Amino acid sequence: MSSSSYHSSSSSTGGHGWPNCKCGSKAVMETSWTDDNPGRRFLGCRHFREGRKCKFFEWVDDEICKRGKAVIIALRNENIKLKLKMKQCTSITLSSVSLL
Ligand SMILES: [Zn+2]
Repeated sequence: MSSSSYHSSSSSTGGHGWPNCKCGSKAVMETSWTDDNPGRRFLGCRHFREGRKCKFFEWVDDEICKRGKAVIIALRNENIKLKLKMKQCTSITLSSVSLL
């Protein structure tokens, strides 16, 4: 068994065809919510969050302009605040319901 089945095609980026990570898993599309790249989508390995050493990473969207970033970050922060409030409300409602 000397022949290796691994061969890289010369034109891997042909527009269509979902990229694969080096580990063989299909890349997944995620959205970044960091201050530097809010709302910007990227492709990464599906094991990315599992602490594996997969470092496959590729931006899908172009970088957002300064103004766009500022607006998205403001909306993101507002969204986080509202979600927290909502959680508090639901937990209060739930606990009062369970008392009945
Ligand atoms: Zn991987």
